[in-house]
Amino acid sequence: MENFSSYILGGLGLAAFVIIGILILLLVNKNEKINLLARSFEKLRRSFNDLDEQAKLIVKTDLELNKAQEELDKRLGGLDALQRISRLISTTLDEAEIFSRLRQALTLHLAFEKSLILIYDDRRNLNCHVAIGIPDRNIPVFMAALENHAGVGAAMKRGNAFSSFSAPKEQRESIAHACDAEHFVVSPILSKEGIIGMIFVGNQSNAAAITQGDEEIISILTSQIGQALENARLFEQVYRSRQDLEAKIQDRTKQLESALAEVRNISKTKSDFVSAVSHELRTPLTSIKGYASILMQGKLGNIPEPVKERLGKINTHSDNLVQLINELLDISRIESGKAEMNLVPCGLSALIDSIHDLLTPQMKDKNIQFIKQVDANIPTLMLDPSQANRIFINLIGNAIKFTPQGGAISVSAKLNNDTVTVDVADTGIGISKNDIGRLFDEFYRVDNVINQNVKGTGLGLPLAKKIVEAHGGRMWVASTVNKGTTFHFTLPVNQPLKANTQDDQT
Ligand code: ADP
Repeated sequence: MENFSSYILGGLGLAAFVIIGILILLLVNKNEKINLLARSFEKLRRSFNDLDEQAKLIVKTDLELNKAQEELDKRLGGLDALQRISRLISTTLDEAEIFSRLRQALTLHLAFEKSLILIYDDRRNLNCHVAIGIPDRNIPVFMAALENHAGVGAAMKRGNAFSSFSAPKEQRESIAHACDAEHFVVSPILSKEGIIGMIFVGNQSNAAAITQGDEEIISILTSQIGQALENARLFEQVYRSRQDLEAKIQDRTKQLESALAEVRNISKTKSDFVSAVSHELRTPLTSIKGYASILMQGKLGNIPEPVKERLGKINTHSDNLVQLINELLDISRIESGKAEMNLVPCGLSALIDSIHDLLTPQMKDKNIQFIKQVDANIPTLMLDPSQANRIFINLIGNAIKFTPQGGAISVSAKLNNDTVTVDVADTGIGISKNDIGRLFDEFYRVDNVINQNVKGTGLGLPLAKKIVEAHGGRMWVASTVNKGTTFHFTLPVNQPLKANTQDDQT
């Protein structure tokens, strides 16, 4: 029995041992599982944390993106407004109109509660040209605050904007207070000459704050305003100086017209006088010449030789006087348009040849060579032959007179478009610069040895010039002392003269 019970006890002990063993085994296994689960849980927790971080990042990025988008939209809006305003102000050159357009555009396109445009006048005083959202009585206070503010002044001098976005807090607050605008930009209006004014835009505290974009847009706007004002001022200057010039030209034209009328009047009086005197002289001269000739012919009895000789002198001097009077009469007739040019077709070359024939003896006397160069393409000209002869006789005659022995005279003619230019050149004594300006004046003769010995009237050149002008041409001269002189004149080709309707009344 004792063995049996010890046997049972032993059995129970073994069973308990086994059970404990199994329990221990089970426990160990569970702990491992718990550990595994704990590790998995930790992993999961970390993943959650990561996800949470990423979600936060996404939300943050989204917010930032929205903000950037807003800023971009605002800038785009600002640029659009800027483009509209600049188009508006750049299409006028009137300063007052620029400000009027700015007044409308600032209200319409830029949503600032307050705007102020200040411009310096000639005495460097600031004047208000545009004020929006600011009562008139407050404008002087605003202006004084901006003008006397050290920060604004320094920024303006540098040509920079001063704004609630970038200015130091203390400086910013004083403007915000004085101008009742917590958010603001003050920007200089610049032109080539420097600062010509400034613009202020601002909002009260409950409105959106000024950003860098706003500041940039206002800076661009002020440079556009500066440019537009500069253009308007330049235009105004040009316009004013043009008006001044026009007024001066009108004045001068009036003066010249009245001077010309006076000259015409004097010239007419002179022509009338010369014509009247010449007529009065011609009649008694003809009588003198007639009586002298009767006496010389001995019709009133025999005349002693010395008296005959004196009568001959009376005759020669009378002839000279008649020639002078005729030339004077011709000049005044041509001047007054009374002398009719009887235009007929004339060959220039033949005309020169005939004058050459006429003057050959005088040229031979002085052993002067004559050269003629007339272009073959010169057409027949419409000339009054007797008057044209006088031109050549006078010019070639003078050339012979003032060219020493063995010299040369050349007459050339060239065709240029619808004009023939004739040159009569000699290798004579020439004419000094002092004398050349008066050469075509009536009765002007250069004081030289030849003129002291040879008689002349000083009417030949003025008459030749008048005849050329009556044919529609012009005459001028070039000369070098001791080298020679060239007279140039033009004659039109196939240019009919305006009909001379006045009869020769002399
Ligand atoms: P005149 O021959 O009767 O003196 P003109 O009117 O023909 O009058 O000429 C005026 C003056 O111009 C002349 O006296 C002379 O001094 C000057 N003159 C004209 N032709 C020439 C010339 N070819 N060379 C130099 N002097 C000239």
